Amino acid sequence: MYNLRLLRNILPIAGHAHPRWLASQHKRRPQPGSLPPDRLEQLRSDLFERREELSGAEWTEVRQSLVDGYKHINGHNVDAVILGVCSAPNQLALAKNYVEFLRSRGSKPNAATLGRLLRVYNAAYHERPLSEAEQSEILQICRSLQAEHETLDASSCENVIHGLVATSGDDWQRGVPLLEMMKVTSTPSVAAYSALTEKAFHVASPEQELAWLLLEEMATARKPPKCEVYLALLNRLANETAQLPAQLSRLLQFLERHEILVSQRVAIRLQELSSQVPQLLHTRTTHLGALGKCQSCQQHLQPVAISDEEFRQLSECFLERVLIRRDVFQRSTPEEVARFKKFVEKTAPYDCVIDGLNVAYSTGTKKTPQQMAKLVATVVRHFREQDKRVLVLGREHMRNWSKQAMHYVHSNASLFLTSNLSHDDPFLLYATLRSGQETDFFSRDLMRSHAFHLGTELKPIFRRWQQEHQFSLVTQTQTGQIIVKEPVRHRLCAHQVAGTWHVPYCAQYTPHPTDSFEVPANWLCIQLKEQTTPATKTKTKTTR
Ligand SMILES: [Zn+2]
Repeated sequence: MYNLRLLRNILPIAGHAHPRWLASQHKRRPQPGSLPPDRLEQLRSDLFERREELSGAEWTEVRQSLVDGYKHINGHNVDAVILGVCSAPNQLALAKNYVEFLRSRGSKPNAATLGRLLRVYNAAYHERPLSEAEQSEILQICRSLQAEHETLDASSCENVIHGLVATSGDDWQRGVPLLEMMKVTSTPSVAAYSALTEKAFHVASPEQELAWLLLEEMATARKPPKCEVYLALLNRLANETAQLPAQLSRLLQFLERHEILVSQRVAIRLQELSSQVPQLLHTRTTHLGALGKCQSCQQHLQPVAISDEEFRQLSECFLERVLIRRDVFQRSTPEEVARFKKFVEKTAPYDCVIDGLNVAYSTGTKKTPQQMAKLVATVVRHFREQDKRVLVLGREHMRNWSKQAMHYVHSNASLFLTSNLSHDDPFLLYATLRSGQETDFFSRDLMRSHAFHLGTELKPIFRRWQQEHQFSLVTQTQTGQIIVKEPVRHRLCAHQVAGTWHVPYCAQYTPHPTDSFEVPANWLCIQLKEQTTPATKTKTKTTR
């Protein structure tokens, strides 16, 4: 039998001092996946990872110690917590052993517990093929969960989806309506979307369209697909090389449309695929030199600039929202907007529009009004020295800032002050777009909501326009000099130049990629060749 004294040492005992995290954690309903790493990790490594089963007495002890030792663990959630701790692919036997223990003492595992068990089956499925018996256990659990509740909550839906995709028949397709069910309360999670999309890419051809549909849907909802989704497609293409040129080009276009960076894992798989079918695909890792020159093929990446026609569409759409839908200047009064428009008609066009408050605060908010005013004046001087016509947007309270610096701003730029409650970016975008295609703006704001509200078609055009025209302040040196971040003039996402794809990738998958315009350090230079020989289906074995 396991040494119960060791177990007592691992777990905190009721009444003893608790770690500080408990103070903030115990009020929220805990999710097993988000448990504090310290002692539960120790339980995992010192006990669970060494055993395939525990005796009834040991499980009772583990269960009771957790309930006694952690304020946020109670009789209702302790079982899911335990299964959350033994969730590694090789701990399926132990997880099942725990559920058997629960049943043996006459208690019925709740939905959260069974859901956790399905996740352990899924983890095992990603390591090895599941046996027939294991698959029917999964289906049995899914059926019982669905039979008990007409509508499942989002996390149960996600768990059932993870169970269904781990089986080999058509049952996984029952996950699609569950995804719809999740939409009743919120946007389905990346995990749920990814699990289904991965499966749809993995199985036979007719489901490919479903996979592409889900991929598009999740990207539009700003849920970046997990690496496994792309890997499932690439593994499939390794076996069905006839489809490779068309499907891979579809994938690259998808990455371009949604400005998605794949991870290094996916980049490596692409290179492997390339060495497997060199007649179809040629892939090199590369870096960019000055002015966006690919060090592999020596071509320059495409300029980010948009066409005259695209600019016309963009500014018309934005101005239409200002004039007709009136949902842009939401925080300003109609009088203020009218006064601003009149001001712009009189003083435009500008070469650069500066968000004064954004500049003032960009080196920290603890500056004196004098320092902030001086900073704005320095940025104005930066553009005046290049003979640029400048508009500075500010707030009423800036009138009280340093007279001398504000006097410089006033006499070297047009200055428009809005009420202290207004948002600055609508004014900034209006004045910049109204001034024409060559006009730049100065702000660190990422303009996310404006990009979003323009809709799926105009959003990428807005982002390219933004990248080409946005300047911002990096820092101010000790001597008062400013360092200005200038726009990167070439494209930063996957795109094609003269038949060659350039695809940026990042070290690791992140569910929340930044919207800033940083140049990715790592790129792939990919040449997709047309299939010249008759389509052949090769039976190469691949690893998942
Ligand atoms: Zn290249």
